[in-house]
Parts: sequence; structure tokens; C-alpha cells
Amino acid sequence: MSAAPTHPDCLFCRIVAGEIPAEVVARTDTSLAFRDVGPQAPTHVLVVPRRHVANAGELADASPAELADVTLLARTVAEQEGLDGDYRLVFNTGAGAGQSVFHAHLHLLGGRAMKWPPG
Ligand code: AMP
Repeated sequence: MSAAPTHPDCLFCRIVAGEIPAEVVARTDTSLAFRDVGPQAPTHVLVVPRRHVANAGELADASPAELADVTLLARTVAEQEGLDGDYRLVFNTGAGAGQSVFHAHLHLLGGRAMKWPPG
């Protein structure tokens, strides 16, 4: 059982704490990977730092090692999912760019062809 969420009003802090259920696919000491509830691709996993920060830039400021850990865990999950090196990693930052949960999270998307530029 994890400790109480550091930010009780934050959805992803509550998932990290185990208060809200999620389909966890991988974890490290500082990061957690779980399936997105509204998948936009056959594989759609969110990788979050356990630490509460609002976005990727804040995570880089707070701990470059934890930002690296998030990225490496996404690669591990991509391998687990058999994506064969073809996947997209996205950090939406700011509401205008589509961020809806203000706890940093890396989207891992794969299992279908990806278009560019994204919408
Ligand atoms: P963003 O729009 O970049 O902030 O991404 C937030 C993501 O969180 C969206 O893709 C949602 O589908 C996803 N999401 C929202 N609630 C949950 C939940 N309880 N478990 C897993 N994913 C969630």
C-alpha cells in the first residue's frame, strides 16, 4: 500500500497512491506507467513521475534524473508491448496544447500508423 497522495485533489497523485484504480503496466521507484482510460491508439500508456509537478519542464527543473526515468520507463513499456521501436511520446503542456491533467505525464502511443503534423 502506498502513502497518502501528496496532492489529494490531483487525479494522478491519487492513482500513484493507489486510491484510484488504474491498469498499471510497469513501475520504477520514481515513475508509474498505466493505461489511458480513453485510448487513442492500440497502445496508449501514460507514464507519470510519482512526484507532483505540473508538466515536463517543471520535472526537468526539479529532477532531470526523474525525467529521464519517465522516458526510459516509456521505452521499457514500448518493448513490453511489442512496438518494435515505432511509437510516439507526447508531453502536452498547457491547456491550449491539450493538457487536461496538471500532473506531468508522458503519453506513449503505438500500434498504428502515426500522422505528422499532429492535430
Ligand atoms: P492530457 O490531456 O495530455 O492532460 O492527458 C490526460 C490523459 O489522462 C487523457 O488522455 C485521459 O484519457 C487520461 N485519463 C483521465 N483520467 C484517467 C484515469 N482515471 N486513468 C487513466 N487515464 C486517465
